[in-house]
Amino acid sequence: MKGALEVKNLSRVFKVRERGLLFSSTRLLKAVDGISFNVAPGEMLGIVGESGSGKSTTARLLLGHIPASGGEIRFGGEKVSAKLDADWRRMRRRMQMIYQDPLGALDPRIPVGQQIEEPLIVHRPELSAAQRRAHVADMMGQIGLLAHHGTRYPHEMSGGQRQRVIIARALIIDPELLVCDEPVSALDVSVQAQVLNVFEDIRTRAGFTGVFVSHDLKVVRQVAERVAVMYLGRIVEIGDVGEVFANPAHPYTQALVSAVPVPGRSRRSRIVLKGDPPSAVNVPAGCPFHTRCPEVRSACRSIRPELVEKGRRAVACHLVNNPSLSGMEAA
Ligand code: SF4
Ligand code: MG
Repeated sequence: MKGALEVKNLSRVFKVRERGLLFSSTRLLKAVDGISFNVAPGEMLGIVGESGSGKSTTARLLLGHIPASGGEIRFGGEKVSAKLDADWRRMRRRMQMIYQDPLGALDPRIPVGQQIEEPLIVHRPELSAAQRRAHVADMMGQIGLLAHHGTRYPHEMSGGQRQRVIIARALIIDPELLVCDEPVSALDVSVQAQVLNVFEDIRTRAGFTGVFVSHDLKVVRQVAERVAVMYLGRIVEIGDVGEVFANPAHPYTQALVSAVPVPGRSRRSRIVLKGDPPSAVNVPAGCPFHTRCPEVRSACRSIRPELVEKGRRAVACHLVNNPSLSGMEAA
């Protein structure tokens, strides 16, 4: 049985130095600001949002690549502390990550077959060299690579092939948790579809629990069962992927979804948001989305909406959670 992932109040604050004319000052950037969610065993949670929303920081926190500033992560019921201690080292054997950049993630000097084998040498010392080679051949077959591809160097392969190598390397130790950060964003759309299909096939067989970070809603709709929408380090909406995309409740989700044609959702005109998201060192008071929200009310400027759960959906918006406000004058 693969483990459940439970995240409670997770946060990560970075110190940023700002140089002024006469003096420099330090400000705090809340990249991830107290997020909570659960991923059921074998389930895939998509995380979407604009760049700077805290998606990638969340992915790195989940695998202990950077320490958290606060909060709690449990995997398979086991708690891992914010400090990156021995617990984490033990835990990491059960987790793998697939990164954003296919070229940067592979060593240009080592044939890809050896790179796929490497995690077995580290995590499965009981295997003989012949057993490892058999595992590599099997994994390459599953991911749609031919045996002779193993002797190639990364630069001798296409972008789609390299991303298959990265997926094979992550899955060869049969991880219980897989965290993906924009794994197909660098690929052409047609190659994306092929890689995602292979990914889905393997997922059906291996059944790992997963988190899939992407700015691309179409990709998330294909691979995830649930989706969390992030804005300025917070989750503003979370729920079943089909439900959220067919009937988005938060005004920010509505804007994101309106930019993508989704089958089953009546065509509505595109909602274009004003401006870029504010900087995470300067999060607006009240609802962090109020500076761009087409539905903003006066209360939104001072009162921070909490993420409130109703059934299988949770939304952080006054209009959704406190409908009496909807009668209030627009700000
Ligand atoms: Fe918009 Fe107000 Fe809802 Fe925030 S709380 S999303 S500003 S309506
Ligand atoms: Mg990112």
